[in-house]
Amino acid sequence: MTSFILASGNAHKAEEFKELFRGVLTVQAAPKTIEVDETGKTYTENAYLKARTYYETFKTPALADDSGLNIEALPEILGVQSARFAPEAKDYADKCKKVIELLSTKENRQAYFVCVLCFYISPEEVYFFEGRVHGTIGFDLRGSKGFGYDPIFIPERKEQDGKSLAELPEWKNEFSHRAKASQAALNFFKESMDKSSKKL
Ligand code: IMP
Repeated sequence: MTSFILASGNAHKAEEFKELFRGVLTVQAAPKTIEVDETGKTYTENAYLKARTYYETFKTPALADDSGLNIEALPEILGVQSARFAPEAKDYADKCKKVIELLSTKENRQAYFVCVLCFYISPEEVYFFEGRVHGTIGFDLRGSKGFGYDPIFIPERKEQDGKSLAELPEWKNEFSHRAKASQAALNFFKESMDKSSKKL
């Protein structure tokens, strides 16, 4: 079973990935957090930059994720810069309100979250997996679960009740951009494990 360190200082994320990949891959927190400049223009580039930096520093396979919110009518904000949007905002509730304000003159409220995972095993063996969740931006903040832009994001579901991701923690665990990317990775590594055990 390949063992990965997580290219992030977020201990909560390390626990989440550890659980998710249990029995297929080992994921643990990195011995130390490294600040990586996220200079890439895409989620894939940034995930790659983070994973490669941790691999080169700790000389061991590394897993990195990069994610963000894309708003169709406002392509110049958020996206790969989601974490760095409105640095003057005092918290995420404030950032969410700014997004709603900027959208007030637009008709199109379509948006989607993206998550890219990069598994850097060696310079010759690097794998990427992507997950997306589509929805719309609401007119106010709703719910208290989740984090970041969850209170203003209304995912596309068959129940058209206008609930935000911050009101749907269980749904989010199963169908979020991060859950979908992780599921794709899990399927891939499970299949590779099955193939190599058949060869023995
Ligand atoms: P990072 O990939 O952890 O650096 O997150 C990038 C940015 O996207 C941060 O501003 C997060 O708040 C936002 N973001 C990523 N995933 C989610 C999510 O599931 N819900 C809400 N915000 C998210």
